[in-house]
Amino acid sequence: MPSYADFYRQSIDQPDAFWAEQAQLIDWHQPPQQICDYSNPPFAKWFVGGTTNLCHNAIDRHLKDRASQPALVAISTETGTERSYSFAELHAEVQRMAAVLQSLGVKQGDRVLIYMPMIAEAAFAMLACVRIGALHSVVFGGFASGSLASRIEDAEPVAIVSADAGSRGGKSVPYKPLLDEAIALSKHKPAAVLMVDRGLVPAAMHAGRDHDWAALRAQHLNATVPCVWVESTHPSYTLYTSGTTGKPKGVQRDTGGYAVALAASMKHIFDAGAGQTDFTAGPPQGESAAPLGGSDPRERRSVGVFFATSDIGWVVGHSYIIYGPLIAGMTTIMYEGLPTRPDAGVWWSIVEKYKVTHMFSAPTAVRVLKKHDASWLKKYDVSTLKALWLAGEPLDEPTAQWISDALQVPIIDNYWQTETGWPILTLANGVEQQTTRFGSPGKAMYGYNVKLIDESNGEELTGPNQKGVVAIEGPLPPGCMQTVWRDDERFVNTYWKSIPGRLIYSTFDWGIRDADGYYFILGRTDDVINVAGHRLGTREIEESISSHPNIAEVAVVGVADSLKGQVAMAFAVPRDASGLTDDAARLKLEGEVMKHVDSQLGAVARPSRVYFVTVLPKTRSGKLLRRALQAVAERRDPGDLTTMDDPAALQQVKDLVGP
Ligand code: ATP
Ligand code: MG
Repeated sequence: MPSYADFYRQSIDQPDAFWAEQAQLIDWHQPPQQICDYSNPPFAKWFVGGTTNLCHNAIDRHLKDRASQPALVAISTETGTERSYSFAELHAEVQRMAAVLQSLGVKQGDRVLIYMPMIAEAAFAMLACVRIGALHSVVFGGFASGSLASRIEDAEPVAIVSADAGSRGGKSVPYKPLLDEAIALSKHKPAAVLMVDRGLVPAAMHAGRDHDWAALRAQHLNATVPCVWVESTHPSYTLYTSGTTGKPKGVQRDTGGYAVALAASMKHIFDAGAGQTDFTAGPPQGESAAPLGGSDPRERRSVGVFFATSDIGWVVGHSYIIYGPLIAGMTTIMYEGLPTRPDAGVWWSIVEKYKVTHMFSAPTAVRVLKKHDASWLKKYDVSTLKALWLAGEPLDEPTAQWISDALQVPIIDNYWQTETGWPILTLANGVEQQTTRFGSPGKAMYGYNVKLIDESNGEELTGPNQKGVVAIEGPLPPGCMQTVWRDDERFVNTYWKSIPGRLIYSTFDWGIRDADGYYFILGRTDDVINVAGHRLGTREIEESISSHPNIAEVAVVGVADSLKGQVAMAFAVPRDASGLTDDAARLKLEGEVMKHVDSQLGAVARPSRVYFVTVLPKTRSGKLLRRALQAVAERRDPGDLTTMDDPAALQQVKDLVGP
C-alpha cells in the first residue's frame, strides 16, 4: 500500500498516469485516446476519445456476477413500504422506463426534468436517461412552482417525469398542481409529462401531454433498450446548486470523467466494494470479501450496502445514492421519510436490518437526532457500519462527539460542492487509514490541487495556519463540473476570475491548513466578518457558541456597525428552553454565551447580541441561510427565498430584531 502522501503527489505530478490507472475501474466501449485535454483552460476534457455509458457501468456490467443481488432498496416510512430490486430487476425496470421515454420523443442529448419524491421510479428515470444519452435534470421534489418554473425554463426539457405526491411527516404533498403551475409560468413547455401514480392523491391529467407510467410500462414490459455509447465528454446531467448564497448555478457534468471519479472515490475514499450482499447468508465469501486488514473485526466483514440519507435532488443523491454505489456493485438504500419518524431510531433500525456497511448523512440531520435521546441509536446493532460520513455543512465538534459516542464508529467529515461531484477534502481510508481531527474535514483529495490564496493579492499561502480562500488549480479533476449549463462565460467569470491576477477555481470558502495538511473550513468568503480590523470566520464563533452546554444549534452573521465596521450577531437554538420564560432568564443565558466566547476566542469575537429562537432559517437541503439572516438583521430585504424551507423561521428573527 502506498502512503497517502505518495498517492496524492502522483495524482498532482503525473495526472495522466494516475487517471489512466483509475480509468480502468470502469468499462469503456472505446478506450480513451487522451487522458486530459486542457488546451483551452479552464475547460478540462477528460478521457477524450473514450466512449462509455453511465447506466452500463451502474447496472449492465454487474449482471454477469450479481444479477440476483439487491441493487436498489427503496424504503418509505411515509407510506410504510419497502421495495427491493435486484440488478436484473433494475435492469428490466430501467429499460421499460427508457422505452417509455423514447416513445414520448426523448432522444440523445435531450433533457428530461425529474421532479419526484424518493421513490424507486425516480432512480429508474435517472438511469434510463443516461442509458439513452439523454440528460437528466433533477429538481428537488419539495420545491414550489416558482423554483421549478425557472429550472424548466433553463433546462428546456422535452419531457418531465413526476408523481402524484410526495409525503412529509405523514402528510401528502401534491406535486401535480405545482408542476402544472410551473409549466404555465415557464416560457418553455415540455412536450410530455410522465406521471407515476402512487395512489396518494388524485392528479388531473392534461390530455395529449400527460401520460400514466403504469399504463405505458405495461406496453413496454419486455423492452430491450441497449445502452448508447456516448463520448466521455457527453454531458450526463445538469443540476442546480443549493442556492445558499444566491441564484442557483446549473452545474453540467460529463459522463466518463464522472464515472471514473465515482468509481475511484468508492475505492479510495469510502474503502467500499461490492462484497457479498446476500442478506440471508452466513459469513462473507469470495475475493471481494477479502479481509481489509487491521484488527477491528468490523474491517473483516464483507462490504456492500450503502445508505446515503440525502435526496436525489442534491448532488449527494446523484453521486452516492444512485451512481457511486451502483457503479461499485453495491446495494444502495433510498429512503423517503424523516430521521425521527416513527421514532429517532428509524435509521439505525434500517442499518441493522439491511446490514448497512457505509452510511452517509449531513450534520443538519445529526443535529435533529441530537434533540432526541442517544438511547435511540443504541437500541440497534450497527456493528456492520464501517463509518459514518457527513457532508454539506461544517461539522461542529459537539455534534461530531455526540454521534461518535452514540454510534461508536468513525465519523468522517467530507467537504465538497455540487460543482465538484465528489469530496475535495476528507480522508482516503482506502489508500491509507488516517485519523480524523475534530473540526477538520481532512486533507486534499487526490486530483485536487488545493491551495490557500490571499484574496487581496492572489498569492499562495504556504505556511501552516494561515487563513485564505480555498482554491483549486486547474484542471479540475474528473467528475467536476464541465461548465455552467449553456453559459461558459458565467462558468469562467464566476468561478475562475474572483482572485486577482490568476486563473484559479475558487470554492468561495475560507479556510486554514495545519502543519500536517489537515484543512479547516472557516465559513464562506462572504461570511468573513471584519470587526475593528480583525478578520473572523463566522464558523469560528459558531463553534465556540455551540460548545456551550445549553446550545443545540447556532448561526452567526456579520451585521454592519457604524463604529466597528461589523459586529457578530448570533441566533441560537437552546437545548432546553424551559427555563427561558422571561427576559431576565434570556439575558442570563446570553451573558453566559458571551463570556464563553470571550474566554475561547477573545472579546473581539464576542457577538453583540445572542437571540434565542426555536428554529433557524435553512434551505431545503438543510443549510443555514445566512444571507437571509444577515439581511433581516441589517433590516434589509432578504431577497430570493425560494430555496428556503420554513418561512416561519425568518419571521421569528424579524420579530426579535425589530423593524
Ligand atoms: P450556492 O452555491 O447556490 O450558494 P451551496 O454552496 O450551499 O449553494 P452546495 O454545492 O450544496 O450548494 O454546497 C457546497 C458548500 O457547502 C461548500 O462550498 C461549503 O460552503 C459547504 N460545505 C459542504 N461540505 C462542508 C463541510 N464538510 N464542512 C464545511 N462546509 C461544507
Ligand atoms: Mg456554492
